[in-house]
Amino acid sequence: ATPMSVMVGVGKAAEHGILIRQGEALQTSSTLDTIVLDKTGTITEGKPAVTDIVCADGQQETSVLQLAASLERGSEHPLAMAILNEAAQRQLSLESASQFQALNGKGVTATLAGKAYRLGNRRWLESEGVSITLDSQPLTDKGATPLFLSEGNTLLGIIGVADRIKDDSRAAIARLKDAGLTVIMITGDIEASARAIAKQAGVDEVMAEVLPEDKAKKVLALQQEGRTVAMVGDGINDAPALAQADVGFAIGTGTDVAIESAAITLMGGSLHGVADAMAISTATVRNIK
Ligand code: ADP
Ligand code: MG
Repeated sequence: ATPMSVMVGVGKAAEHGILIRQGEALQTSSTLDTIVLDKTGTITEGKPAVTDIVCADGQQETSVLQLAASLERGSEHPLAMAILNEAAQRQLSLESASQFQALNGKGVTATLAGKAYRLGNRRWLESEGVSITLDSQPLTDKGATPLFLSEGNTLLGIIGVADRIKDDSRAAIARLKDAGLTVIMITGDIEASARAIAKQAGVDEVMAEVLPEDKAKKVLALQQEGRTVAMVGDGINDAPALAQADVGFAIGTGTDVAIESAAITLMGGSLHGVADAMAISTATVRNIK
């Protein structure tokens, strides 16, 4: 049976820009004790920009950026948008790529003018036999994500991409922590960059370098500790974790896959929606009893 009060609660949530697809999620929300937040596009704006281009000997900034943008043309990842925007601003013309592949949590690969290129994170390129001959620490120290560009086994350069946190993420996270909840940031990004963002957002616990398929496993492990867990995310890579969580919150500006996998959608994308949903849930559950 769907009590009248759940319908009232769902309506009240909608007024706050919180779309509840499953009435049950409204009742579960008041029992949450752990909130897992994706980094890119959830805590941050999801609109990263290129901050630095580091070149290997013999390479030039424009050629590194032009190759990277040509590779990213087929990707919808926020990091790809940053690189494509920078190339557009510099009015670089892009090459057409063949054999394009986007690899979740790793990066992109394609063939340009008969040569195989990769652009992605260090761990992936190293696993493909590329030796990392340039220093990325100046980039990670400031919270930028380093993307490594290779041709075959040769590193051509590093592009630093940085994203700012949403204006109200810190306040919303403080509200959740004040309510006694454990707040954890989860990301495929590397530890150093993730820590810098977590610090800005006021998050103490970080799970970094989590592959997309492992995000759901991390949520399950928390549940197996006896916790009641919310997952908040926006990306395709968050979808399994959103489905695994006791309550999944999708960012309304995120991907359709995330929205379909989550019980609740936060239309404006503000993390205040999580605390708001919990408050409405508490009021609703009281009325049911
Ligand atoms: P997040 O959890 O922050 O949303 P992802 O799991 O989507 O991150 O990506 C993790 C890492 O994989 C990125 O930080 C980046 O290093 C690499 N990566 C993923 N997609 C791309 C892409 N299109 N281009 C370059 N690197 C990528
Ligand atoms: Mg994301």
